[in-house]
Amino acid sequence: MEKTSAALWRRIDERYNMIGSECGNCGRAYFPQRIICRKCGRKSVMKEKMLSGNGEIYSYSRIRVPPDDFKDAAPYTVGVIKLDEGPMVEGHIIENGKEIEIGRRVRTVFRKLRVDGDEGLIHYHFKFEPV
Ligand SMILES: [Zn+2]
Repeated sequence: MEKTSAALWRRIDERYNMIGSECGNCGRAYFPQRIICRKCGRKSVMKEKMLSGNGEIYSYSRIRVPPDDFKDAAPYTVGVIKLDEGPMVEGHIIENGKEIEIGRRVRTVFRKLRVDGDEGLIHYHFKFEPV
């Protein structure tokens, strides 16, 4: 039981702080964390790495006909962000009055993603905001 709880809190910490991992053998960074480097395999020497959350828009798509969970949010934009440390991350891109275009610099923010059902369970996740 205690192990489960600790694992849960560790995941929350990982998500809230955008802690990825880095291979000490080749320097490649990952998010979410990996225990084995894709390039190095058994030679992996993985360690935690705090990511800056900064990067640029690699690709994006405007969603006008969303899945049911996001119908109240449409239209909205999702995309792939290439973080400065290398990992590619998918997520919502917040349109804070700035034009969204490939190559635009973004920063990571922690925001509400959606609310589930009548009990109002709130899901949070990373989103990306043009800077
Ligand atoms: Zn490696």
